[in-house]
Amino acid sequence: MRKALVAGNWKMNGTINDVRELASKISQTEQDKVDIMVAPSFVYLHSVSETLSKTNIFLAGQDCSEFDQGAFTGETCADMLVDLGCTHVIVGHSERRQFFGDSDSRVAAKARKAEIKGLCPIVCVGETLEERDRGRTIEVIERQLCAVFKVIENKFVIAYEPVWAIGTGKSATPEMAQEVHENIRQCAAVHSHVDGLDLRILYGGSVKPDNADELFSMPDIDGGLIGGASLDSESFLKICRSAAELVN
Ligand code: PEP
Repeated sequence: MRKALVAGNWKMNGTINDVRELASKISQTEQDKVDIMVAPSFVYLHSVSETLSKTNIFLAGQDCSEFDQGAFTGETCADMLVDLGCTHVIVGHSERRQFFGDSDSRVAAKARKAEIKGLCPIVCVGETLEERDRGRTIEVIERQLCAVFKVIENKFVIAYEPVWAIGTGKSATPEMAQEVHENIRQCAAVHSHVDGLDLRILYGGSVKPDNADELFSMPDIDGGLIGGASLDSESFLKICRSAAELVN
């Protein structure tokens, strides 16, 4: 049985007061059927960690370095995230792959470093519109997954995020997402050390309160990675409630 997980990726948004207020509103929910996680900007992790200290909401970094520590200006290492109370870290988000040159092998190295340091990596995979139009979706996702499966040894979460659906308002249909999630589960069963049935696979890409129910009703969708809608506490909590009711 896989417990639902809904993760808010706050990206590079908000002021310190905004994120404190958002964290405080989210922390007022009582949900035991869904795990809730938020990923604020690095500079606000400490403050959000304090706001969430007496809750069971998980805290995540939006990325981490593949290196331990040292002369890597602007980077944040996994140990620093652990220090600030993070339990998870997002790696391979398409914005990192697209704008910051994160290759499959770097994403794998980041995921491995995270797990060595005690963080659960949330590994993002997804195809571009061009790749989908050329019928290459499954091939691209398997390539991204296998790079990580080769190195990883502990528990991880996968987030399927079609690049064309992120921040565009165009979500994958539930059937499209289900097809890819089913493939991810099979790929994990064959190529990773985890039992595919235990693997939590989140869908991300324009999830909103309006489409959460239909997405979370799909058998292989175990929750969501939420960008835009996670910046509004009411929308985010509605999505969390959908997941609590419908996942599994
Ligand atoms: C994301 O960036 O992970 C994401 C899913 O964004 P949005 O929900 O805004 O599409």
